[in-house]
Amino acid sequence: MSSSRPHIVIVGGGIIGLNTAYYLLSGPEPPRVTIVENTHIAAAASSKAAGFVAGNKGWHAPANVELAKLSFDAYTDLAAKLNGAESFGWRRVTTTGVKIGNQDKMSGYRTLPVAGALEATSGIGGWANGDKVVLINEDSGQLLPGAFCARLWAECTAKGLVTLIATPTGRDGKTLRTTEGLLKFDKLVLAAGPWTADLCETLGLPRVPVSSLPGHHIQIKPAMPKGMQVIPDESLFCGVGAGDGNILESIAADIPDYEPGSWERTQGWTRTVEFFPRADGNVYVAGENAIPKTIGDRAADARLNRLPPTAARCRAHVDDELVARMVRASKAVSPALDLDKGAQLVEADLCYRPITPDKCPIIGEWAEDIYVSSGHGPWGITLATGSGIVLSELIRADLAHKKPQLSADISGLEPHRFGPKRSAKL
Ligand SMILES: Cc1cc2nc3c(=O)[nH]c(=O)nc-3n(C[C@H](O)[C@H](O)[C@H](O)COP(=O)(O)OP(=O)(O)OC[C@H]3O[C@@H](n4cnc5c(N)ncnc54)[C@H](O)[C@@H]3O)c2cc1C
Repeated sequence: MSSSRPHIVIVGGGIIGLNTAYYLLSGPEPPRVTIVENTHIAAAASSKAAGFVAGNKGWHAPANVELAKLSFDAYTDLAAKLNGAESFGWRRVTTTGVKIGNQDKMSGYRTLPVAGALEATSGIGGWANGDKVVLINEDSGQLLPGAFCARLWAECTAKGLVTLIATPTGRDGKTLRTTEGLLKFDKLVLAAGPWTADLCETLGLPRVPVSSLPGHHIQIKPAMPKGMQVIPDESLFCGVGAGDGNILESIAADIPDYEPGSWERTQGWTRTVEFFPRADGNVYVAGENAIPKTIGDRAADARLNRLPPTAARCRAHVDDELVARMVRASKAVSPALDLDKGAQLVEADLCYRPITPDKCPIIGEWAEDIYVSSGHGPWGITLATGSGIVLSELIRADLAHKKPQLSADISGLEPHRFGPKRSAKL
């Protein structure tokens, strides 16, 4: 391997950084690639996410549509190449919207691709309560994100990826200063998830418009009620409102200081709750996006959703009251997830999504020779493969002084779309 090959340094070893590395290393005449990660590979949301992959345009804002399709096709290819079913739990899933009680929306933060009319029947498929609506199931898949990242990292390492566990401390032109020494780069990629704006500041760059959205999740080992054999490969997107007689009366009874009609942050249940039955038999539950009260003294820091300084500190901020809201919502939706009837809570954790003002990612050049790929919000797993492909195409074209031919239209994801182009000369 010749050291005259260009050197690409990627900061952040989450699913976005890993896919960027993989597609840079997979083309002809690959550059040298180094990932600088300050905790460990996939330390944050990239290994803690549900792993739902939505390729169909019905789920996405127009700016993401081509990227979502490209990504789904790339996941299908990778699953065939890397034995995805075995090594990272890749499988196709069906999707269903569910409405319980007087909740008017099934999802407070996603557009659901509704394919039919609401069936006003109680009890669906034997495992979940409520009225259901069928969603578009074309190109819906699932993987175990931690296992996927581990597999991709192994593949990249075999292709020559260098991983440096270090924290960047500054930059002198095209030299990155880190806690483990200096790294010269030809192109630098910022893929530090919700920490990307802070990283910019460290490197003397304008902050990218990426903030953070916290999300708790739990995993439940179900206990099958009599007559229920299995939980199907069906992801549920639910709205759980008040006022549905027995189900909600029973969960309300568990709430300390419950007052009908009051929706204090510390009471009640998660209203927009999502269920992802997994290949290992557990059910992953998400949708609780309130700010944990455990983030400390917010008055001292005007920024909401204050991030822990590193991924390693996220777990310390798990908020038991928010976990309890998810447990109650789970009980309302499925008798198999009722902890009082033998189901077991096997995990409760918290991680942060990187998010932009329009909730679409930013992918492209942020300053001369410095690229950013971040802000994927609730779709970072879904869009990761396509993001890696297009960013590697942009960087390769730049290195070859050619006009890029991209596999997907990402014109709506331009990093400078929120303001005038700011220059940061090296
Ligand atoms: C509860 C929950 C469920 C989700 N479920 C899904 C889903 O089902 N489908 C889907 O498409 N998306 C899902 N998402 C969103 C998805 O997880 C994220 O969008 C995605 O993981 C972001 O990946 P990333 O690589 O940009 O960031 P991250 O995963 O945050 O990775 C960033 C990496 O950079 C490292 N880092 C940070 N700062 C530095 C620094 N200064 N120096 C070196 N390294 C640094 C971190 O340690 C970390 O390893 C979910 C998110 C949440 C919160």
